Amino acid sequence: MSTGRTTTSTDTYDYVIVGGGLEGLAIAWGLTSRGEKSVLVIERDQLCGGMTGKSSGVVRAHYGTPSVAKMGWKGTKFFHDAPEILGDDCGFRNCGYMVAVGEENVGNLEATIAMQQGLGVDVEFIGGDKARELWPGLHVDDFAKIAYEPLGGRGDAPMLGMAFSVVARQQGAKIRQGTTVTGFTRESEADGARVTGVTLGDGSTVGAGQVILATGAWAAQLGETIGLDIPVRAQRAQLMLVDPGEPLPHVPVLSDLVSLQYLAGEPNGDILCGNSDHHDVHWADPDNYPNKADDDFIEWTIGKLM
Ligand SMILES: Cc1cc2nc3c(=O)[nH]c(=O)nc-3n(C[C@H](O)[C@H](O)[C@H](O)COP(=O)(O)OP(=O)(O)OC[C@H]3O[C@@H](n4cnc5c(N)ncnc54)[C@H](O)[C@@H]3O)c2cc1C
Repeated sequence: MSTGRTTTSTDTYDYVIVGGGLEGLAIAWGLTSRGEKSVLVIERDQLCGGMTGKSSGVVRAHYGTPSVAKMGWKGTKFFHDAPEILGDDCGFRNCGYMVAVGEENVGNLEATIAMQQGLGVDVEFIGGDKARELWPGLHVDDFAKIAYEPLGGRGDAPMLGMAFSVVARQQGAKIRQGTTVTGFTRESEADGARVTGVTLGDGSTVGAGQVILATGAWAAQLGETIGLDIPVRAQRAQLMLVDPGEPLPHVPVLSDLVSLQYLAGEPNGDILCGNSDHHDVHWADPDNYPNKADDDFIEWTIGKLM
């Protein structure tokens, strides 16, 4: 948000990161890994207690935009290397990732997979027999084409966030939890005046060479305090866990683009069912939304799962 460096004192840092979720903690790890020592993360609640704590943790490079697919591929490889980089496997399970489409989307899937292969992503097309071998009992008749990423799988977003925080702290970062940032200090009241730090809920301030907003779904609220229009809105997502009777074996994550759902095996053998149908978007207030799946969502999801 601003440039320039500051001298370090107890309440002034070169970098103040607002938000202690996966992104803020990854940034703290990234900065301290590059040798920066004057880094503070401020979290209003507890680390990874925001959306990071609710993530399905699907790890894949399957995205339709080349820049995002490239980041997804880099991220996928990062999970494989996490024990060497962070000293922790972060709960990653390399169960693979499958995406399946109906006849009407075969052309799109072929184009997307060609793009990803051009970027070096390890992804291939597989037949229904192979899909059933990977996921015993899977009903594949609705699928006209299936792609498989053997290196994808399931991450654990809070475990990864906490691993970033541990290493960032070892490398010199400071972390304050239970501390809300309410606004920014600036050089003057003039429009566009440089940000020089943050104000906290108790009225105190922390000076900063640079302020990094990593507040995810809450970014727009803080931006508004200095007239910044940050185009981030929160969309409510619902999830359901199903006990399949007998534990699901080590199956890949399945993105079923016929029924618009994703299915993944939980460590205890349950099935995690997520929705990929974004036609009817539920914009939500991230501080005030029903934190439980609706009955009609559960009924709809069971129908798709069956
Ligand atoms: C249901 C669900 C499923 C998902 N599934 C996947 C998936 O399968 N694969 C995938 O890659 N991604 C998935 N994601 C997305 C992924 O979890 C998020 O992109 C990621 O966790 C966001 O991290 P973040 O740090 O930006 O946000 P958050 O984790 O929300 O962190 C923001 C932090 O900022 C803090 N904060 C806010 N305002 C202030 C303030 N004023 N002062 C101080 N602190 C403040 C909050 O308390 C919060 O801890 C999913 C997300 C959800 C919700």
